[in-house]
Amino acid sequence: MITNIPRKDAIELIGNTPLVLLQSASEAAGCEIYGKCEFANPGASVKDRAALGIIRDAEASGELKPGGTIVEGTAGNTGIGIALVANALGYKTIIVMPDNQSQEKMDTLRALGAQLVLVPPTKYSDCNHFVHTSRRLAEETEGAIWANQFDNTANRKVHIETTAAEIWDQMEGRIDGFTCAAGTGGTIAGVGLGLKERDENVQIALTDPHGAALYSYFAEGELKSEGTSVAEGIGQGRITGNLEGAPIDTQFRISDEEGLEWVARLLREEGICLGLSSGINVAGAVALGKQLVADGREDPRVVTVLCDTGFRYLSSLYNAKWLESKGLPVFDWLKS
Ligand code: PMP
Repeated sequence: MITNIPRKDAIELIGNTPLVLLQSASEAAGCEIYGKCEFANPGASVKDRAALGIIRDAEASGELKPGGTIVEGTAGNTGIGIALVANALGYKTIIVMPDNQSQEKMDTLRALGAQLVLVPPTKYSDCNHFVHTSRRLAEETEGAIWANQFDNTANRKVHIETTAAEIWDQMEGRIDGFTCAAGTGGTIAGVGLGLKERDENVQIALTDPHGAALYSYFAEGELKSEGTSVAEGIGQGRITGNLEGAPIDTQFRISDEEGLEWVARLLREEGICLGLSSGINVAGAVALGKQLVADGREDPRVVTVLCDTGFRYLSSLYNAKWLESKGLPVFDWLKS
């Protein structure tokens, strides 16, 4: 429940995020599109929830002991969430991250007091991939646990218990569709399962960026990727533990250009500054809204996730030189 009662500690600031009606997206879709403002979490991303869920689960199982260390491989946001929660609860944090992620995320992790280990970006099958490196480091570190956000279902459980329940309450039980992209898959699977429990007619759509293999998996049963994406935190090539049994009804494939167009519109027309995964999610939500209208649903209402703040990408998404270097269109107002 969202209340104005003072929270008893900073941990209680995680979750209970606002839901906003996105005017421009609703206009484009011809129905109401809502964004769950996950950038309003203390670590400015949806991953604060997974960090807290995984840590609470490890405490409950007895695996994580007072003063222990949490080790994780992450594109950055989970690491930021873990570092904040760990600081609040008296744990240490070691984060392994590919060195092609945003400078802001690396600087933030160091600023929060996490020990940062950078590795070159590699395929998941390479033993030096950030996920495998983090598992080895956890094994080698005394008193450490491996958060394992991809396969540890404490991740999606927290979305069933919090994100899905909040969305249902905020929409007063009137919701026709939900969509988002998958990194670990915790959000789409958890919110999907939580909403279906309440109303099995809610359509759950996976929105996949280029370069990911889930669109073809859900469309044709085969993990196959096409193209590439610069979006951070999303783009999965396998069925993670969190994605197993995810109730996906339909799927969309969204390009970086389409996602960037929504990042630009949400900023310039609505005053919300977001990362690219949010833009891709909103493009997917517009596609889902149009599909539900075409299917004859009356005034459908669609929810998606605004995953993280754009302030985390000032040197990339909001930088003309960087956009040009990636062959992406430069926002008009950044052109000098
Ligand atoms: N967007 C961003 C910016 C993220 O960091 C992540 C998490 N990796 C996601 C979306 C996807 O969330 P999930 O891991 O729950 O699939």
